[in-house]
Amino acid sequence: MGEPRRVAIVGAGPSGIFAAQSLLGHPGIAVDLYDRLPTPYGLLRYGVAPDHTSIKGVGEALARVFESPDVRFLGLVEFGKDVTRKELLGAYDAVIYAAGAAEDAEMAVPGENLPGSDSARSFVAWYSGHPDATPFRLTGVRSVVTVGVGNVAVDVSRILCKTASELTPTDMPDPVLNELRGHVARDVWIVGRRGPQHASFTTPELRELLTLPHVQPVVHDALDEIDLTTLERRPRANVEAMKIAAERSVPDASLRLHLLFWHRPIEVEGRHRVAGITLERTALDDEGHLIGTGEERTIQCELVLRAIGYRGRALDGVPFDEVRGIIPNTVGRVTDARGRVQRREYAVGWIKRGPTGVIGTNKSDAAETVAALVADLADQPPHVLEPVEKMLRRKGLRPTWYEDWMRIDAAEAALGGRYGRARTKIASWSDLLDIARGRGPARRPTSRDL
Ligand code: NAP
Repeated sequence: MGEPRRVAIVGAGPSGIFAAQSLLGHPGIAVDLYDRLPTPYGLLRYGVAPDHTSIKGVGEALARVFESPDVRFLGLVEFGKDVTRKELLGAYDAVIYAAGAAEDAEMAVPGENLPGSDSARSFVAWYSGHPDATPFRLTGVRSVVTVGVGNVAVDVSRILCKTASELTPTDMPDPVLNELRGHVARDVWIVGRRGPQHASFTTPELRELLTLPHVQPVVHDALDEIDLTTLERRPRANVEAMKIAAERSVPDASLRLHLLFWHRPIEVEGRHRVAGITLERTALDDEGHLIGTGEERTIQCELVLRAIGYRGRALDGVPFDEVRGIIPNTVGRVTDARGRVQRREYAVGWIKRGPTGVIGTNKSDAAETVAALVADLADQPPHVLEPVEKMLRRKGLRPTWYEDWMRIDAAEAALGGRYGRARTKIASWSDLLDIARGRGPARRPTSRDL
């Protein structure tokens, strides 16, 4: 057998790893997974809620991909900065973009950028111990409004509703845990611009939120007016879950969780920081378009989190659909603005189809792209490629390899073990790099690290 065909994957999150896994099913292909961070796993490490430990099973399956001698992890290599599209195409037979959706949708209302108004992504990044995250201060936050009714809104609200003892077993960094333990929010609002039947959260996630102990659900909408017989399975199950929650009385509740639909944000209030959010009541017109009714209400709050969806970010030199926020593609083959296929370039995951679906959705999505790639490779004679090591040396790059990640992994497990936790995330860049480079044991992160 000749030299293996080489495939670079840009982004070592779930979609990239699923693509690598799928490529492994085809002999004679060697895969390099690149990531800007020193650690693999992307949203699995920095997006999946830390209290959702059952998803760990996916992590274990993805970790097995790196056990193959045909797969390498190269962390600390940023596409567009450390390596260009041209360089990757010069060193690999094919490149798969698996860069996810790095931008946040905006509400585009006045006051959106006041201190105390932030994206759910930033909040998730903070509690997940992302090294780039800015710390949140929750002192004095008595009421939080989350805008958007998808699973991200459910995740951040649940974390805010959980008690210290419920959060302690998670892998959150200690300073995060301390901040969340000390917070005094008594009201958490989830606000949807359309009705309960239009919410995009999935029912198990919704049910989990609505049945948290010590949390009194308050459903502000009249659910009986919704004709359940006209609804599909998920929205019907969602509305039924809300109906049960509306009947639930939690006498020892320490916190109220409000579900408010048919309201859209029109202004985040406050002079120097958030003091409230003004919403306008909405309705659907005869053609089903969302319209404002002019009726306004203001909810006092000290923190606004917008969980209204993500968008892909353009990658240097790679075609990008600005409207949809994705790399244009046909079954994963990258196309330009005129729909012409860009040879040897592919896309998977959120940058291919937009930010929808659960982690597992990326498996079939990656299989589709890989099928196209493998068919194309079979039709192409091998290219004359620059050796990858030469390219890295030429660029002065020192990636973190999988073994380096294993050191971080072991250090986080050891850190957690000291306090009876399975893991404590290390959130500071300098600690991550020291450990990855074998420059000493993990020290206990301090709040200065975050
Ligand atoms: P999402 O499901 O698309 O929800 C976005 C929400 O924001 C929708 O309710 C949308 O309302 C609303 N919205 C959009 N623009 C708005 C605006 N300008 N003003 C007010 N509301 C606005 O997105 P997501 O929650 O970010 O989740 C992304 C993906 O990750 C989803 O597929 C989700 O299922 C997945 N995820 C899964 C889990 C899990 O399985 N546990 C956890 C987290 C995320 P409209 O419907 O009216 O547009």
